[in-house]
Amino acid sequence: MKIADQHFINGQFVDSHGRETIDVHNPATGEFIGRTVLGDEVDAERAIAAAHAAFPAWSKTSLEERKVYLQRVADAIDERMDDLIAITVAEYGAPVGFAGMFNQQARDFMVLAQDLLKPENFEEKNGNATITKVPVGVAGLLTPWNGSPWFIAEKLASALAAGSTVVIKPSQLSTLQSRVLMDCFDKAGLPAGVINVVNGPGSSLGNTITRSPLVQKISFTGSTPVGKQINRDATETMKRVTLELGGKSPTVILDDADMTKAVQFALFAGFLNTGQACIAGTRILVPESRLEEAKAVLKAGVEALKLGDPNDPETTVQPMVSKSHYERVQSYIRKGIEEGAEVLVGGEGKPEGFEAGNYVKPTVFVNVTNDMTIAQEEIFGPVLSVITYRDDEEAVAIANDTAYGLHGYVYGEDLERARKVADQIRAGRVMVNQFFDDPTSPFGGFKMSGFGREFGVHGMNAYLEAKTVFSA
Ligand code: NAP
Ligand code: MG
Repeated sequence: MKIADQHFINGQFVDSHGRETIDVHNPATGEFIGRTVLGDEVDAERAIAAAHAAFPAWSKTSLEERKVYLQRVADAIDERMDDLIAITVAEYGAPVGFAGMFNQQARDFMVLAQDLLKPENFEEKNGNATITKVPVGVAGLLTPWNGSPWFIAEKLASALAAGSTVVIKPSQLSTLQSRVLMDCFDKAGLPAGVINVVNGPGSSLGNTITRSPLVQKISFTGSTPVGKQINRDATETMKRVTLELGGKSPTVILDDADMTKAVQFALFAGFLNTGQACIAGTRILVPESRLEEAKAVLKAGVEALKLGDPNDPETTVQPMVSKSHYERVQSYIRKGIEEGAEVLVGGEGKPEGFEAGNYVKPTVFVNVTNDMTIAQEEIFGPVLSVITYRDDEEAVAIANDTAYGLHGYVYGEDLERARKVADQIRAGRVMVNQFFDDPTSPFGGFKMSGFGREFGVHGMNAYLEAKTVFSA
């Protein structure tokens, strides 16, 4: 059994002031695997004070010094890579190959951020003006459970590179993963207080961070309702805010597409993280004239997916992170049926042989109209909706008929035409014909998917203030 009963504050492991505990269960088996002590407002205040005290010195470190420290974090993650992967599989249920990939990326963010540490990214001239980019201050990093180390690392890398100190508040569903990361940060040996990690509820410990006058920046990834609350809380102290929120992203299959390849692409995008991905392509837009063909290929594609033990390298479908999340996904499947959509494959209940875990049957609905609940709300599970359209114009209109605007996918033979469709989708990122894994180009949402951008220079700029000094 794993125990996470301490926070990482001011370069030390410290006992939690908050005494409430939660039990951690393996989502694939239901097995009890650990216990976490949750922090409270006092723990948050301690972490904030440490980050505040560390800020003046850290913000003045040279670009070369920050490169060295970033590399030390990368090396420390490397050293614990096997433990990190194992606990990600056990606590989150991610298939081992996938857990390996995103933990490796977590490490790589620390290396990529070093490329940003060039003088031209921090100073420019404009006539008599010298414009410098000044570290914003203490940053609160609030992260979700769907790939926790990855989200922590991408925010942390940008913040450290910019010269900010941080208080990290990971999801309560990721505390054992956070515990291994704390070890890594301890090993990396940055000056005390530069990185602080506290476990605890968002509604008490988390909002102590969003309301604190000593915190100047919030970077949040999570749901849209919580994002709204955080933005309201942060306003009082005029914090800079980055919100990476939900999505209901379209995958537009054009009428000239090779249907087998297009469906392969659509299922990959739709079932990323078994649907527990903000960028999942959960609305598949199919030309009316090719619906029957698409249905046959989709059904075969879903039936070929491999549900199983996340430790088995062949497994591609994982359980939902928690029992309550399983129930939430089930309620959407029921809602789809009630509203008149037709289950092409999958449906309610647990797949046979997987009753102990939080597994959902990968489900594809047809006869869906874009106004149905399952086409409008983020389900965050393996539930896809097929919606038909008549021409490219209508496809674009349906694609954009959503409150969200995080992502889009387009698949078609004629690349120029596919690009034209991609250009018309109102979303922060669109992928044409291929899944691109690029953590250097800006990432973030339009509309209810939030605001601000992460990754690369855009990501680092979110932790910097532009300051202009005029002199002759
Ligand atoms: P969530 O419920 O919104 O929570 C996200 C984080 O915020 C958690 O650490 C949570 O703490 C904390 N939090 C909750 N209330 C808070 C408050 N009042 N003040 C400060 N912090 C607070 O999201 P989730 O359930 O973890 O993750 C799933 C959601 O994240 C989905 O909606 C998904 O679309 C979104 N997501 C978006 C992206 C993106 O990049 N756009 C990526 C991944 C996920 P606790 O839950 O521990 O209490
Ligand atoms: Mg939540």
